[in-house]
Amino acid sequence: MRYEEPVFRPPVESNSLIIQATIGCPHNRCTFCAMYKMKKYRTRPVSDIKADIDSAKRMWPDPPSVFLADGNSIAMKTEEMVEVLDCIREAFPGIRRVSCYGGARFIRGRKPDDLKRLREHGLDIVYMGLESGDDEILRRVNKGVTSKDYVRAANNIKEAGLNLSTYLLAGLGGRERTEEHAVNSALTLNKMNPDYIRVRTLVVLPGTPLYEELESGEFEECSGREIAGETRLLISKLDVEAMFLSDHVSNYLPIHGKLPGSKEKMLAAIDEVLEHPDHPSLKPRVITSL
Ligand code: SF4
Repeated sequence: MRYEEPVFRPPVESNSLIIQATIGCPHNRCTFCAMYKMKKYRTRPVSDIKADIDSAKRMWPDPPSVFLADGNSIAMKTEEMVEVLDCIREAFPGIRRVSCYGGARFIRGRKPDDLKRLREHGLDIVYMGLESGDDEILRRVNKGVTSKDYVRAANNIKEAGLNLSTYLLAGLGGRERTEEHAVNSALTLNKMNPDYIRVRTLVVLPGTPLYEELESGEFEECSGREIAGETRLLISKLDVEAMFLSDHVSNYLPIHGKLPGSKEKMLAAIDEVLEHPDHPSLKPRVITSL
């Protein structure tokens, strides 16, 4: 196996075999993201990916699932990805799931038949970083897409029969746009209708443009209490059938539930925390890595 480090994967893929199909992120310009700054985006030759699958099979013949790294493997050419998916399904006939990250920019204009082919050849779920459904925040963080692009991309994914898991970045609007962040993200998610809504909390990392904005005072970070209020407003506005999860080390509150049924329970859990200013969940976080 050959990995070009660092390699990232969603927390839920911690038990998966990771196959690096692409290197880096083809966008690589979001102001808050430091994940792939040291890498120049490229698709790996299919022969190299197949060689990795072959060597992985010798070391780990029955992984439960496979995650195709890096940051946007959905951007691969359809024919190449089909070849990789076929190779994975042949090597590991017992796997339950194959997944990858997929940015809206690389899905919104994709032909529905191409995505259907990926589904037919064994891709199950796409993890999409929505970050925010507020167009002003998306513009400020240089995400390169609008809320409409997210809705179009989500529709393409759902039409193809793929599962969609979205990531929202709590606190991304800072104190100034925390309300717009919550309300417009909920409105966008309601139109996207994802299967999973996952929340991470913004950690402003040194070396990123957002860190410079923080240092200069242009960007003001939300406190734990403000993030809890933002999450409460988001959940209250959601009108979807989806699993809501905050399964990331960066989060203050472990709020999980199936929407719409668990909405009131989740809101009550946040209220309980908000009513107690000294609640441990609202203390500053100590995060050494993400
Ligand atoms: S947040 Fe996603 S799209 Fe933006 S630079 Fe990072 S990996 Fe690329």
